[in-house]
Amino acid sequence: MRVFISADMEGCTGIVHGDQLSPGGYDYNRGRELMTGDVVAAAQAALSFEGVTQVRICDGHGTMRNVLLERLPTGADLVAGPASSRTLCQVETLDDGRGDDGRQGDDGAGFDVLMFVGHHAMAGTQNAILPHTWVGSIVAEVSVNGRAFGEVGLNAAIAGDLGIPAIFMSGDVAACAEARTFLGDDLVTVAVKRAVGAKSAVCLPPRETSEAIRLGVLTALDETADRKPLRIEGPIDMAVSFHRSEMADRALKRPGVERVGRAQVAFQRPTFLEAAREAWALIEWTAGEQPEWLR
Ligand SMILES: [Zn+2]
Repeated sequence: MRVFISADMEGCTGIVHGDQLSPGGYDYNRGRELMTGDVVAAAQAALSFEGVTQVRICDGHGTMRNVLLERLPTGADLVAGPASSRTLCQVETLDDGRGDDGRQGDDGAGFDVLMFVGHHAMAGTQNAILPHTWVGSIVAEVSVNGRAFGEVGLNAAIAGDLGIPAIFMSGDVAACAEARTFLGDDLVTVAVKRAVGAKSAVCLPPRETSEAIRLGVLTALDETADRKPLRIEGPIDMAVSFHRSEMADRALKRPGVERVGRAQVAFQRPTFLEAAREAWALIEWTAGEQPEWLR
C-alpha cells in the first residue's frame, strides 16, 4: 500500500502568522521545524502500519521547499519545488503509476490513499487560521458546480478522479470541520489548534499533536475500506472569483474562459482533473502578471 501525504503549512502545529510561513520571516525556520514535525509524525505512523510500503510527501506550501528532507524516515520521499514547475500543485505526482485514463494499473504502482497534513480552511472562513484558497492575495473563492471549494475539497476531488480516497486530515478546528463537509462526518481528523482570530490560536504543543497525528493516521489506515473517493462527475463548471475586477480582466485572456461577474470568471472542462489543472494554471497566470502596485 502506498500513502500520499499532501502537506501545507498554515494548518500545522503552532503556525499562526505570516512570519512563520515564508523565507525571510523571522520565525520561518522554526515554522519549517514545526511543519516537518507534523509531517514526520504522519509518515512514521503510516510506515508502521502493516502493508504500507511507501509514503510520499508533497510539500504544498508557498515555495514548496519547506519540509526538511533530512528528517524523513526511510520509506518516505518528498516532492519539493515550486508550483510553477508542477501541474497538480499540492498533490503533484499523485497520478504516478496510472494510465492515460487516470486509472490504476494492474501492477498496483499507484497511490492507494491520500492524507492531508497541515491544511487550512478556504478563503472567507470565519474562526479559522490564515484561511485562503490557493493564492490568498488574488483569489476570493473557487467554486465547482456552484459550490465553494477550499484546497482540501479541490485536492480530494483530484484524488477522487484518480480513484483515490482521502482518509485523514490535520489542521485547525475550522479546517477539520471543512474537510468533514466534503469527505464525511466520520473522516478521521486531528485538530492541532483552535483559532481565536485569523492570526491567533490556542495551540497544542508538538509533543501532544505528534501523538494525536500518529493515532489518527493509524485509525484512518485501519478504516480505509470505509472511505470512498470524492468523485465529481463531469462536465465540471469551475468559477474563480478574484478580489479585484482587473484580475478577472487578466484571467479572461486564457482560452475558453468567460466573465460571469465583475471579478468572477468561469470555464467548463469534461473532468474534474482537467478543470483543476486549468484552474491552477489560470490562477498562476493571473498572479504572475500582477502589476507591482497590486501586490
Ligand atoms: Zn500554504
